[in-house]
Amino acid sequence: MTHPASSVTSIATSSTRYRGVSIVGCCLFFFIGCQWTGRNQASLPTRHSVQAEQLLMLSDIRLSKDHPLFQDLNELRLDVARQLHLPLDKGQVVVYLFSDEDKYSRYIETTFPGLPPRRAYFVGTPDQLAVYTYWGDHIQEDLRHEFTHGLLHAALKDVPLWLDEGIAEYFEIAGPNSGVNPEYAQRLAQAIPKGWRPNIRRLEDLENVREMNRDDYQESWAWVHFMLHGSPDGQIVLLDYLRELQATPNPGRLSDRLKAEHPDVEERLLSYLATMATFGTASVSSASEL
Ligand SMILES: [Zn+2]
Repeated sequence: MTHPASSVTSIATSSTRYRGVSIVGCCLFFFIGCQWTGRNQASLPTRHSVQAEQLLMLSDIRLSKDHPLFQDLNELRLDVARQLHLPLDKGQVVVYLFSDEDKYSRYIETTFPGLPPRRAYFVGTPDQLAVYTYWGDHIQEDLRHEFTHGLLHAALKDVPLWLDEGIAEYFEIAGPNSGVNPEYAQRLAQAIPKGWRPNIRRLEDLENVREMNRDDYQESWAWVHFMLHGSPDGQIVLLDYLRELQATPNPGRLSDRLKAEHPDVEERLLSYLATMATFGTASVSSASEL
């Protein structure tokens, strides 16, 4: 997510996957056997509800179904389905939208004790795919990111951690630039001359998001962008992989398929990232310095 630096660092270093529970970056995903039991001392927002296709939003604040946020999320849903060839209407994603950070934080702290503070969480259970967040300055970006996780988990049996985050990072970007995160593009472009090199197998080995730093989020985003826009073969590999994930939770490593097409795929990604260096004008530090 394109958060302020402190939030990004926090998000990228404090999530985890362990038996029964899988926490994905700014999100967490429960599998069957989750040992956390909610202590619902703080209540969920239920005063208002809006149903919009796959999205059900329950909130403390009144939002019209005509609100641009719903239009944006529905367009995002269609875009995810179109670009990733995923089926629509595979499951509902419930968004619990609190009116302010205090109410949201109180609910998260009492229901999921020990979680680090985050602006939003995605929680998947066998019964519900849920997003928890609050109304704030980053609501569109946060909802796009979390809703993307919800759409992926609705359509797929499972999704590797790095790919889950890479796709969510890609789709959180609204606007006409096809998932380009200017800050990431600049950071990576600046890191390459300093010796940074992509390593998709290393990303694939990350099962615990506590191991992930912002460089890993950036690289995950970069691989997804490269596969969707920088390599026709990569796009085919990604779409085939996602199609298999609809039937099986573990179709093997995506990297094996990419390298079978192009053994030098990491060099190809580097060349692709070099073409993206002109995106964004923000003054940022090198990815290798993060
Ligand atoms: Zn995420």
